[in-house]
Amino acid sequence: MLPDRLRALIQLLARLPGVGEKTAQRYALFLSSEAEGLARDLGGELSTLSERIRQCERCRNLAEVDAHGSAICAVCRDNRRDAALLCVVARVQDLLAVERSGAMRGRYFVLGRLLSPLDGVGPDELPLRELSARIREDGVKEVILATPPSVDGEATALLLARELATLGVNVSRIASGVPHGGDLEFSDQITLGRAISGRRSVAG
Ligand SMILES: [Zn+2]
Repeated sequence: MLPDRLRALIQLLARLPGVGEKTAQRYALFLSSEAEGLARDLGGELSTLSERIRQCERCRNLAEVDAHGSAICAVCRDNRRDAALLCVVARVQDLLAVERSGAMRGRYFVLGRLLSPLDGVGPDELPLRELSARIREDGVKEVILATPPSVDGEATALLLARELATLGVNVSRIASGVPHGGDLEFSDQITLGRAISGRRSVAG
């Protein structure tokens, strides 16, 4: 019933997280019939997204590529941040959630993934070397492990505590309060803020 091209667009949109076939169809119809300008603007942004936005070279948050071709995120560029304090999170969404809580005055490191033996993600798949380099170069004194309180999140926190023990930094884990198996992203700001301020030191 629909032109091939439109059906191709629907299939692409349906691959976005949280967008089912019906929503994808609604978006595609809206873009093609009512929002011509929006379709053009979206197309322009999307076509240059991977050139303009990259992983931050220091913390793996998302950053805009500057005129010199390097990408340093806003948090890393902020000199008022406490460089001695580093918060390790699994995903960029978690970084944003911790930022919203207002409880973190240091910087971050985004792992990108969690240890997950069942999915075949072992220690070698984690950016441990980059994390160690960050800690050494920035003179980090305390590392806060803010991986989610899930099985994979706890396993990752344990591994990191062990790995970082040799670097002579204090390693702490966010306090419970964030529901087990829960996503940091969906924790409210107060709960997450308390989890960070109530963090406990862990031995490697
Ligand atoms: Zn950064």
